[in-house]
This record gives sequence, C-alpha cells and structure tokens, in this order.
Amino acid sequence: MHKGIAVSPGVVVGVAYRLDSVFGSSEPQCLESPESIPAEVERFDRAVELSATELEAIVVKVAQQLGGSEADIFKSHLQIVNDQTLLAKVRSLIETQQLTALSALQLVLQSYAATFARIEHDYFRERMTDIRDVISRIGSHLTLQSPLIPTGTHVDGHGDEPVILVAHEILPSQAMSLGNLPIAGIVTETGGGTSHAAILSRSRGIPAVSGVVGITGDVRSGDLMVVDGRDGLVLVRPDRETTAAYRKLQREFFDLKDRLVLNRDQPARSADGSQIELLANINNLADTQAALKVGATGVGLFRTEYLFLTHQDVPDEEEQYQYYRQIIEDSPGCAVTIRTLDLGGDKTVPYLGRRSEANPFMGWRSIRLSFEHPRLFERQIRAILRAGRHGKVNMLFPMITTLEELRYVNKLVEETRRNLRREGVPFGEDVKTGVMVEVPAAAVCIDALLRETDFISIGSNDLIQYLVAADRDNPKVAHLCEPLSPAIFKVLQMVLDACQRTGTPVTLCGEMAGQPRSVLALFGMGLRRFSMSPAFVPTIKALLSSVTTAQAERFAHQVLQLKTSEEIRTYLTARLHEISSALEVFDSA
Ligand code: PEP
Ligand code: MG
Repeated sequence: MHKGIAVSPGVVVGVAYRLDSVFGSSEPQCLESPESIPAEVERFDRAVELSATELEAIVVKVAQQLGGSEADIFKSHLQIVNDQTLLAKVRSLIETQQLTALSALQLVLQSYAATFARIEHDYFRERMTDIRDVISRIGSHLTLQSPLIPTGTHVDGHGDEPVILVAHEILPSQAMSLGNLPIAGIVTETGGGTSHAAILSRSRGIPAVSGVVGITGDVRSGDLMVVDGRDGLVLVRPDRETTAAYRKLQREFFDLKDRLVLNRDQPARSADGSQIELLANINNLADTQAALKVGATGVGLFRTEYLFLTHQDVPDEEEQYQYYRQIIEDSPGCAVTIRTLDLGGDKTVPYLGRRSEANPFMGWRSIRLSFEHPRLFERQIRAILRAGRHGKVNMLFPMITTLEELRYVNKLVEETRRNLRREGVPFGEDVKTGVMVEVPAAAVCIDALLRETDFISIGSNDLIQYLVAADRDNPKVAHLCEPLSPAIFKVLQMVLDACQRTGTPVTLCGEMAGQPRSVLALFGMGLRRFSMSPAFVPTIKALLSSVTTAQAERFAHQVLQLKTSEEIRTYLTARLHEISSALEVFDSA
C-alpha cells in the first residue's frame, strides 16, 4: 500500500498502465524478441520524422508571430533532431542491446547529461536544455502515439478493467493529449493538489493520487491496483478480499455520481432559496461540452494557455478568435470568462523563454510574460475582444500584483479597442475586464484594485501557495498548501468583504470551489459564484441545496475563530457529515 496526496476524489479498481517518459526513473526496458528490433527502429525513425516536421512548422510560425530571434531556438532543435550521431547512438542501443526506443533514448539522454555536467559553461548548460527538449519531443511521439496506449480492454487478462495511468510526472501537453483516452484513475510520483495531473483528473471526474514516492518502481503495466482518492491510498496487487471491498465502494461512488447529475436542470439554490452560480473551469472545447452536460451555468475560467501548450506552434489571432468563438457558441446564453495567457511556472512553451529560473513560480510567469511579449499579448486581447461579439464575454488577467500593472493592462485593452475601431474590425463593445486575485499583494490592496476593474476572480490555488510560501506542486510541502487554514480564510474574508462593500462581482475559481468542506465556509462568508472542474458541479449543487444561509454563516463565523488547520478540518468535516454524509466521498482528505 502506498500513501500519497489525495487530489481527485472517488475510488477505482483497475489495471495499471505505466506512462514511461524519457525523464522517468524506470529501469531500461527490453524488447521481447530480436524479431521486434526492425519494427522498433522504424517506430523510432517515425517519431524522429514527426518531430522534425513539427519543428519545421514551428520555426516558420514562431518567426511570423514573434520574430526571427525567437525562432532561433527551434532552428537549433531542428539541428539536434537531425543530428546523425545522436540518432545513430539510439538506433545502435535498440539493435545491440535490444532496448525499447524509449529506453534507448533515455540512456542517450543520460550520457549527454553526464558529459555536459562536467563542463562548467552556460552555453553548454543551455545546449543540454535543448537536447532534453528535443529528446522529450521524440519521446512523446513514442509514448503518446504508441500502440501500447490503453484501450480500456483486455490488459493482461484482466478483461474489461478500467485503466489506471501511473507516471512519474505528467507534462501539461501530455495531460491534454491524455484527455481523449479512456483512463479511469491517475497516480503520479510528483505533483500536488493543483498540478496538471490533478486538474486533468478533476475535470474528468476520475480519482487520482499524487506525490506517491516510488510507485513507478513498484508497478508494471497490467498489474491490478486500487486508487482511493478520498484519502490518498494506492494499493498495488491487492488480495481478493480487499479488491472485492473496493469494487463495492467503486460501484457506490459511480452510482452516486450518476444520481447526482440528474440535478443538472435544477437551479443552484441553498435550502432557504439563496441563489448561487455554479460555473465551470475549462481547459479546452471538450470541457465546454462536459460543463453543459452537468448543468454549469457558464464558464468561470477558460485557461487559454492550454490552447498554446497543445498547439503545434503558436496560435495566431485568427486561430484564437475561432477557438474562443467556438467555446462561446457552445455555451449558449452563458457568460464565458477567458483568461489571458498564464504560462510560466510549471507550464512552459519554449518560444517564450526557458525553464532555467531558480524559482519559476516566483519569476517570469503569467501576465509578466505577456508584458514582455506585447505583440503576442495584443493579438490575444484582439482575439478575445473580437470573440466578444458572439456572446457575453469577460476577459480575465492572471497574477496581477500591483495597481500599476492593472492600469497598464487597462490601457492596453483601451488601445486595442481603439485600433479595432479604426480598422473597422467588429468586436464586442461590452466585454468586461477583471483581475485574478492570486498574489497576496493584490489581496492586501484589494480596495485600490476594485476601483479600476469590472470584476474579480479569486485564484485560491496560487493565493494559497504564495501566502504560505510553499510550491503548490511540491509534495514535500503539500501539508502547507492547505485551503482549510486560518490564514487563507482570513484573507478570503477580507477580499469578499471588499467586494461586497463596492458591489463588485466576485467568483472563486481555485480548486477550493469544488471541495465540499471549503464550499460550506465560503458560502457562509458570502460567496455566491463558484467556478470549478465540471465534474464537481452536481456535488456542489446537491450540497448547497442541503444547507441554509444562516447555517453556513454560523459555520463561517466559527471557522474564522479557529486557530489551526486541524481545528478547521475537524470542524468542517463534522458539519459536512451532519449535512450530507453521502457527499463526504467527494471531499479529499
Ligand atoms: C488559481 O490559481 O487558483 C487558478 C484558478 O489558476 P491556475 O490553477 O490555473 O493557476
Ligand atoms: Mg493561478
């Protein structure tokens, strides 16, 4: 049994599928027989070819969109992908050692890393980053397009068992590609409650556990396993009795989910009739459909960076406009809040800078990055304003830290509107603009920001990590990234009060919005707009319909008196149990 961090609730029994990556720590894998060697070399050559074609297209597009010098990095990647010495080393390992292409790539990467580590020079360090990038590009063609991808059926004689993905880490681009596969659970060695794997699992409503140290060494593809996303347990090769017990829990979990979703056409209201808005956080078009199906009444957060992360190259203004328009048209009658690029931190695209910062989350990320790429930023603002003609659209700016930044952004939007008018390009005149409150400085100076913005959205994921100075993706400090804590609730209350005083619309779009215990307190603190992974909408609707405003206000009042996270957790766990014990399965430990 392994213990990790429960990041997406629910229980599933299934067979493991190991997503090995070139950066993973798994043992080298051999091919089953020498006869497979030619096919494996061919598979490798195909992956190289696909990578080269991809890179050629990127060079052209990046040069058009961002300028020639930004494309240089991809030109050097093209050289690497065509480097015959590197390719010959990989082929030779497949042929002589009978290794899989992925393992051969991994060994070559390790040998380059060892050589470069001995050379103390920035140029070589950068060069190693490029080699890593290229090898990972080839590797992802090998893994994600490999015939080994699970189909949900017949894995190692377990019949129609659901598939549980086991990985060291899931990269953002992989997270999106995996979105189309039939995966019923996710277990990763790295990551915390708000990492991509967590966000992906939640948006699909499947159980997941992160931060499970050593799991990739203990599991082979085809092993039976249990993922218990309620308290972060992972069982590998469980015995018959344990399996039967978990299968029963799994059935109950899915039955409850199916029953809850029947509330999709009912309005979201508390037991005494207070109206609440339950909105969806979406990362792509498919999530828009999922949001509609569960009864979300709008999109509270569209993370546009996923469009960039999964795009072959850089999406231009027209492509962005068409994509945003599609999301708006697929959400008839609903407001759609589109957040501008929030790259950096753990989400990087090579054309906007490298991963070489010592503290990427504290560094060059999000709106700071957009400010440094004014052409790219302006095109995104144009695309959003133009899409604003097709429905009710809000534009949201991430990671605003100071009033100066807000003023600068407002000025850019005004200028862009003027340009569009002058060019005669139609756009939505009534697109509202808003600020994400996710940096403590913005929360502390909220009054000043509220005077110059139409609405705000609280990004509790980042607000928490910055408030407690603990990386949201680092399992070692996950205990500090705890939403149910006195400091968080005090700051949230301060922000909500300021919004109430000024009548500013406020949404909370961090993961707290979909967590039953947090929601009980937030509703009591006056929050009426929650934006969450679509899968949580039915649960939160059911929860709120079982509690009165006065009851929740009492809970919130009490929570704000408590001094430790432990006290808050115990208190809210007990309240949730009283109100609806059936929904406890939807709250992670
Ligand atoms: C947040 O920080 O709470 C948020 C919603 O944004 P993201 O998780 O994309 O950083
Ligand atoms: Mg954020």
